[in-house]
Amino acid sequence: MYYSIPVGFNTIADLRHLAIVATAAYIGGPATLIATLFVCLGRLLLFGVTTQAIVGAFFMMLVGLGCALLSHLSWSRLTKLIVMNIFALGIIFCSLTINLNNLDDVLHVYPLHFVISMAGGFLLYLIAESINTSNELLFLLEHISYTDHLTNLSNRRQLESSLEEQLPQARQRHEHLSVLVLDIDHFKEVNDTYGHAAGDAVLRQLGQILIDKCRSNDVVTRSGGEEFTVLLPNCAFRQALRIANQILSGVNQYEFKLADGLTLKATVSIGVTTYPGTGGDISGAALLEQADKALYEAKNAGRNRVCSYEI
Ligand code: GH3
Ligand code: MG
Ligand code: MG
Repeated sequence: MYYSIPVGFNTIADLRHLAIVATAAYIGGPATLIATLFVCLGRLLLFGVTTQAIVGAFFMMLVGLGCALLSHLSWSRLTKLIVMNIFALGIIFCSLTINLNNLDDVLHVYPLHFVISMAGGFLLYLIAESINTSNELLFLLEHISYTDHLTNLSNRRQLESSLEEQLPQARQRHEHLSVLVLDIDHFKEVNDTYGHAAGDAVLRQLGQILIDKCRSNDVVTRSGGEEFTVLLPNCAFRQALRIANQILSGVNQYEFKLADGLTLKATVSIGVTTYPGTGGDISGAALLEQADKALYEAKNAGRNRVCSYEI
């Protein structure tokens, strides 16, 4: 409004309707009405309550209401922006005609105002779309960096960041935090016998079994090649052991489906540990190491079993 085109006594032409149009095209009806209120109040508060300002505010309200209604249509954003901009400029033409009371004076400034508004609307579209695209790419990048592409589970990076978050939380709330580390037994043989694609299918299906057997707030990750780690927040040792045994028997009963209708059986070994254990306070890395030691013990004891870290 400060950088507007003065077109007569107390009458200005500016681009404030673009704020309303953009809000309607990108956010929706309620936000458009709030933006309209700010634009109208701003005009009156910054430049005083004059007849011209009241007429301007009234017509801007019409722009806001019209754009709020148009925002519900399922047009593309660019179409919405163009149609709403033209609609707003039509209303502004009426407002200027009433305020200036002379059509020649209106036509003296209106064509330039129209062209600047349309160009401004298009520039606004380009800027908003580029912000939208870079935001979407940022979200995608974030998702990819924390996700295992094969199983769609969280990856090691997510495991480490969740552990960094969960361990202090457990400490503060005096809760238990359990960790399961699970490794497929003789997985190399699956690859050697049925091929790498079959191995990938087993990894994907095992990921689904883990999701099914764990609670919704557990963090199920594929932490390595054929190794999975599950963080169990607010889960005491006995409950963790129960979940680990449910996973073990779930895998034992499951027939992994391969291409061409083939099926195969597989087993897993699981290491379990719980914070706080008997050793007192420890780091996240040390907690993972405890679970790894328990897993190593399960492997050494003959596989297809659950072992726990000396609790
Ligand atoms: P153990 O019972 O001692 O765990 O034996 P193992 O054969 O499972 O363990 P080993 O470490 O000898 O072999 C792991 C195999 O996992 C070797 C590797 O090719 C395979 N592997 C790792 N990542 C992937 C993957 O993404 N896809 C497939 N298909 N295989 C994988
Ligand atoms: Mg293995
Ligand atoms: Mg392994």
